Amino acid sequence: MRCYDRPSPNFDDRKDGAKPELIVLHYTSMDSTEAALEKLTDPASKVSCHYLIDEKGNIFQLVDEDKRAWHAGVSSWMGKDDVNSRSIGIEISNRDDQPYTKEQIFSLALLCKDLMFRHKIPTENVVGHSDVAPDRKQDPGAHFPWQKLSRHDIGRWPEPTAADQFNAAAVARSPKKLKELFNEAGYGVNAFGKNKPKLKELVTAFQRRYEPEAFSKPDAKPGKATAGTVAKLRAVARLNRPKKDQPEA
Ligand SMILES: [Zn+2]
Repeated sequence: MRCYDRPSPNFDDRKDGAKPELIVLHYTSMDSTEAALEKLTDPASKVSCHYLIDEKGNIFQLVDEDKRAWHAGVSSWMGKDDVNSRSIGIEISNRDDQPYTKEQIFSLALLCKDLMFRHKIPTENVVGHSDVAPDRKQDPGAHFPWQKLSRHDIGRWPEPTAADQFNAAAVARSPKKLKELFNEAGYGVNAFGKNKPKLKELVTAFQRRYEPEAFSKPDAKPGKATAGTVAKLRAVARLNRPKKDQPEA
């Protein structure tokens, strides 16, 4: 693994003195790292990120951490928008139709741990672009190894309890209850004004991250919540609940 500077002109100041409190993960969806770097440093593209990781695990820094990179677009997490002002954006070289390499996941884990430590970013705030913009985005996609990274406390991985499974099939049929759970889990259920995400888009984004098998089974129907989806969603909502709401030990 090597680290390189590849400065991009595509950044501005974080608004209202905001500090990084989220890490947003993306895939580049381009044929090569070089093509992605060219786009992310081209002033005409108006997109960028703080870091990019190539297939060999090399890390490129494009924007200083104290500046606002342009990677998340119209996004929301835990009831707050302007995700760009509040986050560090990491692009990973991947086209969605291929697994991530061992080397790039290793580098990503090291980078995330370093960022989480230095900026005091909690594990529930390591998210995918599709978590913060479920109506528009699919990255980092169903190949991304969320479960593996969660073993290093990078992002949440739900282990549903019996209580999470109780009556889950009935909840799966209730749009109102599903939306409440998505809201508790951090998703921008009521964000983006008229363009707020549809329930099917929220379920699809959630399944892409937590139930990737919903996309690979022969009879898969991604976008339709099942009892299993509800049990995992309840577990994520419980894990992501702000610490201050939890009883003191
Ligand atoms: Zn993205």
